[in-house]
Amino acid sequence: MYIVILGAPGAGKGTQAAVVAEKLKAAHIATGDMFREAQEQETELARQAVSYMEKGQLVPDEITIRMVLERIAAPDCVNGVVFDGFPRNLKQAEALDEALVEQGKTVDKVVYIKVSETELLERLSGRWICRQCQTPYHALNSPPKTPGKCDRCGGELYQRADDTVETVKERLRVYFAQTAPLIDYYTRAGKLLEVDGEGGVDEVGERILASIGGSLIGQRSRG
Ligand code: AMP
Repeated sequence: MYIVILGAPGAGKGTQAAVVAEKLKAAHIATGDMFREAQEQETELARQAVSYMEKGQLVPDEITIRMVLERIAAPDCVNGVVFDGFPRNLKQAEALDEALVEQGKTVDKVVYIKVSETELLERLSGRWICRQCQTPYHALNSPPKTPGKCDRCGGELYQRADDTVETVKERLRVYFAQTAPLIDYYTRAGKLLEVDGEGGVDEVGERILASIGGSLIGQRSRG
């Protein structure tokens, strides 16, 4: 199964993509995490990407697409992939389609996690993330039991450099201009599953899994 998780920054893509990947025993490919890991290791890729990330803009397609195509060629991707944060524009979506077609595969479903803009701004401004396992917390809505420490693994919590008010606004602007058109692209392809992303993490996760499961049952009974 090749699943794309689509949604604005703060919609919960990372958290939910991890849930879906585990359930489907698929690889979880998060381009934002890949760029941040590259930054920690101070690689050439990070040098090329950092200025865009700091401004909340998209890293150029040539760099991003090459990185993802290399990643999906890895052995852990044979059982399927859950894409989180990729594709982010039409060019990336087309590149992904082409690459999968060459392997006789296709994007099976696209889960669009829908969250209102007011809720997105609120979520992003109080967000803290575990450095080790990437579990997100919110200063007001879901604080960790011990301040600064992850409940799950005890890792250190940090705030992303691009979660500042100005950068958040730019990331949302980029999302509406470049990524939101993909909702239409995948609707026309008959692949879009729209899921309400407001509510608790478990509740949204269940909605997503039910929606993927339901759509597959529908496909089988039609086929
Ligand atoms: P994310 O963690 O998905 O919010 O991504 C953080 C930042 O990484 C984005 O604001 C972009 O600068 C960069 N990035 C992540 N995914 C992509 C992508 N598919 N295309 C271009 N830039 C990306």
